[in-house]
Amino acid sequence: MERKNAWKSYTSAEVKRVFDFSDQYKAFLSDCKTERECVAYFVKKAEKAGFKNLKDVIASGKKLKAGDKVYADNYGKAMSLFVIGTDPIERGINILGAHIDSPRLDLKQNPLYEDQELVLLDTHYYGGVKKYQWVTLPLALHGVIVKKDGKKVPVCIGEKPDDPVFGVSDLLIHLSATQLEKKGNKVVEGEDLNVLVGSMPEKPAKDGEKEDAKDLVKKKILALLKKEYKIEEEDFLSAEIEVVPAGPARDYGFDRSMIMGYGHDDRCCAYPSFEALLTIPRPRRTACCLLVDKEEIGSVGATGMESKFFENTLAEVMNCAGQYKDLSLRRAITASKALSSDVSAAFDPNYPSVMEKKNCAYFGRGLVFNKYTGARGKSGSNDANAEYMGEMRRIFDKHKVFFQTAELGKVDQGGGGTIAYIFGNYGMQVIDSGVAVLNMHAPWEIISKADLYEAYKGYIAFLKEA
Ligand code: MN
Ligand code: MN
Repeated sequence: MERKNAWKSYTSAEVKRVFDFSDQYKAFLSDCKTERECVAYFVKKAEKAGFKNLKDVIASGKKLKAGDKVYADNYGKAMSLFVIGTDPIERGINILGAHIDSPRLDLKQNPLYEDQELVLLDTHYYGGVKKYQWVTLPLALHGVIVKKDGKKVPVCIGEKPDDPVFGVSDLLIHLSATQLEKKGNKVVEGEDLNVLVGSMPEKPAKDGEKEDAKDLVKKKILALLKKEYKIEEEDFLSAEIEVVPAGPARDYGFDRSMIMGYGHDDRCCAYPSFEALLTIPRPRRTACCLLVDKEEIGSVGATGMESKFFENTLAEVMNCAGQYKDLSLRRAITASKALSSDVSAAFDPNYPSVMEKKNCAYFGRGLVFNKYTGARGKSGSNDANAEYMGEMRRIFDKHKVFFQTAELGKVDQGGGGTIAYIFGNYGMQVIDSGVAVLNMHAPWEIISKADLYEAYKGYIAFLKEA
């Protein structure tokens, strides 16, 4: 039962569409490296496409009707968007869910220190990373600093061609005898992921100042931060600064069939999900795109999938549509259908031993359905119903969308989780679906342009037909 490679059947016009869509995605991925940057991007684009902020709709007292578009922003780090359908919402909605947080290094709250006239920023890594992959790379700082008066200072340093970049050093090979004896997970340790940001001491020689005045590099860096960003050292206490790979997403391979970028997981599902929703003018079932934060650390917190944000927002939407009752909300959620979209592991010819070749994902063969994820006997997985998978086959075949089915590696080789089970907790039908990735969770991940485009096509088909 081998699945077909999409490239083999594309016409030249289709290849052009695939490449054009990929160019838009690359621009998005290059600009949006944090969950906040993603939400800001999507809000701006949604408003242009006619989506109204749900808060404003509630305040205005206007009634939502079929074809109306609304979005809700969850602390600027997660969001949901709805296109109201002609059916009563009680009959269920079609949901595309994905996450917009990615593995990275976060600055600690008290990060700045000087050691032997070098100034560094201390970090705590976020999500599952192979720590040794994050050294000797150009890194950028993205995030916000919130002042005591509530004013937000956005931070994005390391992306413009003339910006400085930062990085975590690694030990020179010449002195690595002991280091290279260590196990992979200890070669670079979490507490050693310190980002070098300065080395130039302030001149101490003012009259009266001691020659051995301490921390003169730090002093100079702080003066610079104050001058350029109007921030004090204490402002790091209320900051969220993410250290991410610097530089844009790029075409990969002689044939430019792939994209290398930071944060494909899971923006290569979030982006086509969002774009698919924009193509839906007036659906039968209300169409929804849900973009969440904190998946990489367990879907926790107010902006993660475990929060009540989705449920409460749907209640508000139903209320604005004049359809809210507690029972109606419960019926709506139970009768909903979801594609929980997250990345899948692509077959890697360098590491074939962890894959079972009949049941793994391949570049170019389209969107990947994972009936189940999990580890050690499917533990922790949402195991989608065969009936639902049957319906997805019907929809995808009808719309000529390339798809494949896969597991995350061989049995007992490892595993992973997604937000699918949380949709499942509501009693709705849900299946994991997404795009295959090479180098998953590495600073630079790779996807196939064909898979990205087939995901986009598949998400549109789902919103129309499910
Ligand atoms: Mn993911
Ligand atoms: Mn992940």
